[in-house]
Amino acid sequence: MPSAGRRTPSAAQGKFVYLFGRKTDGNGTMKPLLGGKGANLAEMCRIGLPVPPGFTIPTEVCTYYYANKRTYPPSLRGQMEAGVASIEAQTGKKFGDLKNPLLVSVRSGARDSMPGMMDTILNLGLNNQTVEALAAKTGNPRFAWDCYRRFVQMYGDVVLGVQKRPDEDHEPFETVIERLKHERYHQAVEDTKLTVADLKELVARFKKLVKERAGKQFPDSPWDQLLGAVGAVFGSWMNDRAIVYRRKYNIPTEWGTAVNVQAMVYGNTGDNSGSGVAFTRNPANGTKEFYGEFLINAQGEDVVAGVRTPEPVAELKKQMPKAYAELERIRQTLEKHFKDVQDFEFTIEDGVVYMLQTRNGKRTAMAALKFSVDMYKEKLIDWKTAVMRNPADQLEQLLAPVFDATEVAKAKAIATGLPAGPGAASGQIYLNAERAVAAAEKGEKVLLVRVETSPEDLRGMIAAEGILTARGGVSSHAALVARQMGKVCVCGAAAVEVDYQARTVRVEGKTFKEGDWMSIDGTAGKVYAGQVKTAPSEIVAGLIDGNKAAQQTEKFKNFQQLMKWCSDATRMVVRTNADTPEQAENAVAFGAVGIGLTRTEHMFFEGDRIDAMREMILAETEEARKAALAKLLPYQREDFAGIFRALKGYPATIRFLDPPLHEFLPHTKEQQEELAKKIGVPAGRIQQRVSQLHEFNPMLGFRGCRLGIGYPEISAMQARAVFEAAAEVQKAGIKVRPEVMIPLVGFKKELDLQIEVVHRAAREVEKEQGVKLNYMVGTMIEVPRGALTADEIALSAEFFSFGTNDLTQTGLGMSRDDSGSFLPQYQELEIVTKNPFATIDATGVGQLVDIAVKKGRSTRPNIKLGICGEHGGDPASIQFFEKVGLDYVSCSPYRVPVARLAAAQAALQTRVED
Ligand code: PEP
Ligand code: MG
Repeated sequence: MPSAGRRTPSAAQGKFVYLFGRKTDGNGTMKPLLGGKGANLAEMCRIGLPVPPGFTIPTEVCTYYYANKRTYPPSLRGQMEAGVASIEAQTGKKFGDLKNPLLVSVRSGARDSMPGMMDTILNLGLNNQTVEALAAKTGNPRFAWDCYRRFVQMYGDVVLGVQKRPDEDHEPFETVIERLKHERYHQAVEDTKLTVADLKELVARFKKLVKERAGKQFPDSPWDQLLGAVGAVFGSWMNDRAIVYRRKYNIPTEWGTAVNVQAMVYGNTGDNSGSGVAFTRNPANGTKEFYGEFLINAQGEDVVAGVRTPEPVAELKKQMPKAYAELERIRQTLEKHFKDVQDFEFTIEDGVVYMLQTRNGKRTAMAALKFSVDMYKEKLIDWKTAVMRNPADQLEQLLAPVFDATEVAKAKAIATGLPAGPGAASGQIYLNAERAVAAAEKGEKVLLVRVETSPEDLRGMIAAEGILTARGGVSSHAALVARQMGKVCVCGAAAVEVDYQARTVRVEGKTFKEGDWMSIDGTAGKVYAGQVKTAPSEIVAGLIDGNKAAQQTEKFKNFQQLMKWCSDATRMVVRTNADTPEQAENAVAFGAVGIGLTRTEHMFFEGDRIDAMREMILAETEEARKAALAKLLPYQREDFAGIFRALKGYPATIRFLDPPLHEFLPHTKEQQEELAKKIGVPAGRIQQRVSQLHEFNPMLGFRGCRLGIGYPEISAMQARAVFEAAAEVQKAGIKVRPEVMIPLVGFKKELDLQIEVVHRAAREVEKEQGVKLNYMVGTMIEVPRGALTADEIALSAEFFSFGTNDLTQTGLGMSRDDSGSFLPQYQELEIVTKNPFATIDATGVGQLVDIAVKKGRSTRPNIKLGICGEHGGDPASIQFFEKVGLDYVSCSPYRVPVARLAAAQAALQTRVED
């Protein structure tokens, strides 16, 4: 954008009016200059669709306007006059004429459509004289005065700012209409019932309202009206709503908006006219049907305003068969030309159809999938385009159980939070894991409600249909586990007050006891009171449960087709983060080709294992520690064997113990006493050890490979469990490819010490079992020093897996567990544009990844490179990982399809950019 006050010569002397109509200057590719609306109006003219003539003032003028103290380029007025003259020549009408007046619409049009900005002014050019001319010319005074009162209302609202005040419940113009209707008819009659006299009176009252509120007369001169409207469009680019919207959707301020000035066509001339909005196919479910609605004898604004209830567009077939046939022809032409589903606005004036706008229609994930496969079959698009047409971040919607549509329409949301695990879940609430598990075992459907969750809650989370937390963000424990398990989850719902003591949850003054029903929509982040009925997704039923009926559905088949295309397009493969055979199996069903991360510590929370784990931590001698570890070994071996079997030959990256030890310890007095009894040590000793293990910064403390270096016997036990399991499964004829991964390495020596332990265990097991093991040892790159010295580390590491959760945490010096208290403000202030724990900070943390990739390959050219942080399932981050050239991404099982789609799209896009 040129700096303030400086006039760039090209902008001052450029082309500021682009005609469309009989002569068309622009085309559909010119969206940056003409805005989406302007470019597509030009394109529709070019392909012969019936578009009322007009012109577009390009976005450059908006840029100029703000760079030059809200003034216009000097030549704009002259060019606009030529533009209006061109419309006059094509319509045979004249702007401000007292015989046959030309009226125009003025609409904003940014590059992407932007709700929140000034939208539309219709019937511009009317005043007390031209309205009579319009009445005489059409022989329809009612129509003329209806246009005039609409114009004064719209212009007063959007240009002169006569809007609802904070103390008012209704729009002031609507209040005036209501008052008049009651004065004259003593009830609320439809607008179409108002007489010419009523409409005249309304115009007078509207103008009076404008004078009172805006402090100036309503402008009579059509040119004053037009210039005022153009200024209002540019002014609206900087209104609060537009700024908020741009921030939310990352739209740069520099883009600016265009303005479209177009000859009016009238949908309100009588019963042979009307206005409508339509989609070339159904945008909710994807069905190939003409979908939309219209109103007879109405202007476009009435359809969206909800003043009258529109009718389905199919009804037009009966009411105006000719117009319907024309619309059907237009529908075909639009799709053939734009090769995508269009969302368009039309007006029928005395039986003749006109097009006012077209754009790519917004769609649900379900519709996007069906559109893409159908259009491929219809040879409208090729398979690569079909892949690109499915928004990766929406794909998860297809896997989620859903609320029954009619039921949810009746329910009222009582709180909102982050949509952390998509889908719908209803259940009886429980506030701790134990009671949740007990209830689930009794056959209850359970909703686990917590302030926040921790590894201790895992069993409760598994047992629950869904998880609701009052605190925590997208990378909180609850969110992470929910994604991994495909659980429905709403987290950080601040309005939910959890009282563990009283075992109650209060939301908006309403109290729910344990056992009461609540429902959560993890796709929308909404919380409902009571039970709302749900149904499973056919894709999950077909893939995971092997449900034959589900496999026959169109949705399932289309999904499989899309995934097949993704396999053909992709360069990076997708693995999964899985800790159990079941998770591994699910991920493989979704198309994962191995495990990228098994967090072994999660296995220590199941059943009695936690006791042995605690015993190990509390042990004061190596002997005692080894004895406790010996109890854990069979459990680990069994887990690993299960995972290897589930993988059927795919590789499994198994990470050794990582979290700070105190996470495993009992923290309350009761828990400590209970454990003391179980393992036969005095409670005081436990208490003492817990405080001994206390750390000020556990995340930077005694964790990761530091544990294995401090207690090599832990790593030795884990290595032995991996290899004994491998030997066992291998003997059963299943290929096994373990990849042992050492966490939190920053120094080559740390890795070397652990590698030695691993190799020793492997050699021992090979000898004992008489097998040859095919394994690798590598490391996570998750601290900056590890990334910066990756060339040294790669001398020892056979693979790197980027732990971008910790790499973000340590790279930014920002605790992922505590960032919730300041990150939202950081996003609001645009210090960060996205949550860096959800989407990789490509400029900062991304550099560490890039450096490590280059350095790693410099000393070990064939090093295997992957990522297993939460970013592995995030489409925008996957795009980045494709660019730096990783071999795979790893994500939670239910994210696998999303990652496959995002990886395929990234590959297709990167190839285009090359
Ligand atoms: C990471 O740090 O990115 C990672 C995958 O490990 P964790 O989240 O278990 O620390
Ligand atoms: Mg980590």
